[in-house]
Amino acid sequence: MKATMDTKLRDVLGGKTAAALGDYLELFTVGDLLHYYPFRYAERGDRADLNALEIGEHATILARVRSVTTRPMRNRRGTILDVLVSDEDGNTLSLTFFNQPWQARQLKSGRWGLFAGKVTEFRGKRQLNSPEFRMLADAESEDEAADLIEEFAGALIPVYRAAGKVPTWTIAKCVAITLDRLAEPPDPLPGRLRDEQSLMDLGAALRAIHRPESTGHLHAARKRLKWQEAFYLQTTLVQRKRAAADTPGTPRPGRDDGLLSAFDAALPFTLTAGQSSVGAELAADLAAPHPMHRLLQGDVGSGKTMVSLRAMLQVVDSGGQAVLLAPTEVLAAQHHRTMIEQLGELARGGELGAPEHATRVALVTGSLPAAAKRAALASLADGSAGIVIGTHALLYDGVDFADLGLVVIDEQHRFGVEQRDALRAKAERPPHVLVMTATPIPRTVAMTVYGDLETSRLTELPQGRTPITTHVVPGGDERWIARAWQRAREEVAAGHQVYVVCPRIGDEDGADGGAEDRRPPLAVADVTPGLTNGPLSGLSVAPLHGRMSADDKDATMRAFAAGATDVLVATTVIEVGVNVPNATMMVILDADRFGVSQLHQLRGRVGRGSAPGLCLLVSESGPGSPAAERLAAVASTTDGFALAELDLEQRREGDVLGAAQSGARSHVRLLSLLRDADLIGEARAEAGALIAADPGLDRHPLLAEAVASLVSDERAEYLEKS
Ligand code: ADP
Ligand code: MG
Repeated sequence: MKATMDTKLRDVLGGKTAAALGDYLELFTVGDLLHYYPFRYAERGDRADLNALEIGEHATILARVRSVTTRPMRNRRGTILDVLVSDEDGNTLSLTFFNQPWQARQLKSGRWGLFAGKVTEFRGKRQLNSPEFRMLADAESEDEAADLIEEFAGALIPVYRAAGKVPTWTIAKCVAITLDRLAEPPDPLPGRLRDEQSLMDLGAALRAIHRPESTGHLHAARKRLKWQEAFYLQTTLVQRKRAAADTPGTPRPGRDDGLLSAFDAALPFTLTAGQSSVGAELAADLAAPHPMHRLLQGDVGSGKTMVSLRAMLQVVDSGGQAVLLAPTEVLAAQHHRTMIEQLGELARGGELGAPEHATRVALVTGSLPAAAKRAALASLADGSAGIVIGTHALLYDGVDFADLGLVVIDEQHRFGVEQRDALRAKAERPPHVLVMTATPIPRTVAMTVYGDLETSRLTELPQGRTPITTHVVPGGDERWIARAWQRAREEVAAGHQVYVVCPRIGDEDGADGGAEDRRPPLAVADVTPGLTNGPLSGLSVAPLHGRMSADDKDATMRAFAAGATDVLVATTVIEVGVNVPNATMMVILDADRFGVSQLHQLRGRVGRGSAPGLCLLVSESGPGSPAAERLAAVASTTDGFALAELDLEQRREGDVLGAAQSGARSHVRLLSLLRDADLIGEARAEAGALIAADPGLDRHPLLAEAVASLVSDERAEYLEKS
């Protein structure tokens, strides 16, 4: 009987083998196994291999036996078998077997074999300790020998990620058996697409990725399977986007003589061209009878919050309420303050002498005193608060709105889909949603992770901003460091303020970093007194970090915003959104411990006023090291999108897609957000065309099925981990 993709492995491989694959690798069906691709291909005499083995890694090598010697153990009964193997270039490695003298029978000098085991070190030399092995001429059956030799001669030997009791060749053997039993699988990719893109069909691609005849053959297989991943994903996203666009929502068209026009008339500056055009996009979205789903990207300080406030006012003008969800209490409190300030009397709804349409801006955070919270919640429920700023405390039961019309999410990456949905559920009809992020997102990431949102970008900074200057300061050099602090004093003397950023809070139980051979990163708890009693003595220096109580944090931020504190020594709590225009200098200590985008975010805190901003990246990284190059890149440009692309290159891709990419059963295995940018773009266009012609995928039932399983498995993880 032929097997299909859904056939259980136990029916093909027998109970014992199938159980091992299930237990150790979570592979249960033929489809699971065939989509468990080799993670690399060993080439005959693969030079890098023997030389590049790393201590502790599980390695599989192809090598030839050079010599075999047996000797007694020194202090105990028993024998040690020493085997020396080499590759075609003469690189050698020793294998050691304890008390397995019979192995000598197979390990004949001159024979090639595959050896797999953990790389250990003994007397300064690398070795494999009691590796599992398979001699190419000692296969158990003629067929197997033929297979092994064919693979051997075929130059590309698939190497699978082994787990537990399942070594790579067991997997290879299972795959071979399964492929031989496989009925030609139906292909979910539309035939027209396969023709246009010259893609192999599914069965051929699966055979080729497991048993490539050549690198060209393998390449074609990978291309087809990547296309499948990208196309399924994009089809899902485009379909979701379309479904959302078809959902009924409440139009919030605003009105001519309302809050928004009063606000605009009093605005002390003119909107940038970007703010105007994005504002028009939002206004049109809000006026439509379907909920908006839009992502607004723009560098720190590009004026996103201003754009969102105007959208909120349009909703209030239409009788609805708007919520701004902030990732931290500090930010929520700051938004609350600045919005009340910017709105002036327009925020005095219900007070004597306030303008007719005035509304109220409520703040809801977890640490609000009980009475204040009750009052705030009442104003949400009765609709007197048109604008609500809050943290995730807004998501809980008992928080009810009179008529929630718009949800603005600041810095989306800190909120998961579930949380977004929790808030959405508080509205009678799906509200409009605006997601804002200051982390410029590389194009492919935007297309995949945020692929079901419309996107807008603010690419210019408001007029009058002086670009920030960034320098790398060698941390090991006393004179440079002294000069940096001197510079900070000058800044304060000129009436400005300074941020000092440290990677760590300090005072942790069993501080981490001890295990590494590097010193632990600098900590707020140590740096603050160090500066107060040293280079910054006489200035007012205050610490700020995430372990302080919300009240303390807020008081500290307020004091700094009011100019009462000269220097704020902080962790990355100040990363997002904090706005103190009088702060003109930032010193980032151990800057190499931060990511590229994070550094860019951090420095965006300075240079927000009219005075020029200065950022010093202090690092002990040696010249030419990858860390030093990263810092040099950050210093050389203020283009957030360029830095985001660089960041993507530097991070492991798994981090971008989260667990979705690393899970054994994931649907995204081959696709790389970085290297396959073009392919992803094409797949998006193809998916768009297909969904436009066949929105319900009625004419593509196989594709519909493939996509449905993707939605249920992956969707949540995708956005959650991003
Ligand atoms: P973002 O949220 O993108 O970081 P904000 O909206 O907070 O940026 O704007 C940063 C600062 O610039 C705020 O003080 C804001 O009032 C001011 N601002 C916004 N738009 C303009 C503009 N068009 N011209 C001048 N200043 C502006
Ligand atoms: Mg902002």
